[in-house]
Amino acid sequence: DNYSSIMGIPVPKITMDATVDRISRIIEEKRPALFHVVTLNPEITMASQQDPQLRSIIDEADLLTADGIGIVMVSRLKGNPLPERVTGCDLLLKLLETGHREHWSFYLLGADEFTNNKADEVIRSKYPNARIVGRHHGFFKPSEEPAIVEHIQALNPDVVVVALGAPKAERLIYKYKHQLNARVAVGVGGSLDVIAG
Ligand code: UDP
Repeated sequence: DNYSSIMGIPVPKITMDATVDRISRIIEEKRPALFHVVTLNPEITMASQQDPQLRSIIDEADLLTADGIGIVMVSRLKGNPLPERVTGCDLLLKLLETGHREHWSFYLLGADEFTNNKADEVIRSKYPNARIVGRHHGFFKPSEEPAIVEHIQALNPDVVVVALGAPKAERLIYKYKHQLNARVAVGVGGSLDVIAG
């Protein structure tokens, strides 16, 4: 079986390398539909049991990965192990590495303005060929969302990095899936804080 069921959610047995390959192919194909990657942590997995909307976001995601070690441990205990953790932060670093090699474009959404700006600077210096085409901090009002989404739409990035925390990021990606005009969107938790140092 290619899946391990975690609280009723079929999580594919996919390594980090396979995850990055899958995303690379999506970007190369330049598909018009946005590919939503959800890195599942125990909090959203648990919350989805009581929250049907969150459950449909997870069900409709194009790819799930096991962000939390707890999820990998449960899969092992059940005798149907997931190969490894694929956290939002590790995945973002791999995507930046690959994006640097392949000249992908990125939009950075989330964290406070100082952190977002610092992460942008760090990425520009470490991965100069990964083009950051736009960025916005993550403390906007709901009324500001449409303008941010229109900006992303106009920029047409390969990857929208959404660092708003889970499940805020997942809800935003789901809500605007058909408007973002990007190849891939992924919620990456506090990764911009990590990159900003
Ligand atoms: N954040 C944000 N907007 C918000 C709330 C949080 O941009 O309204 C950012 C916060 O600054 C941090 C990230 O989202 O960079 C949340 O990180 P955390 O590690 O808590 O996320 P989780 O791992 O729980 O998804």
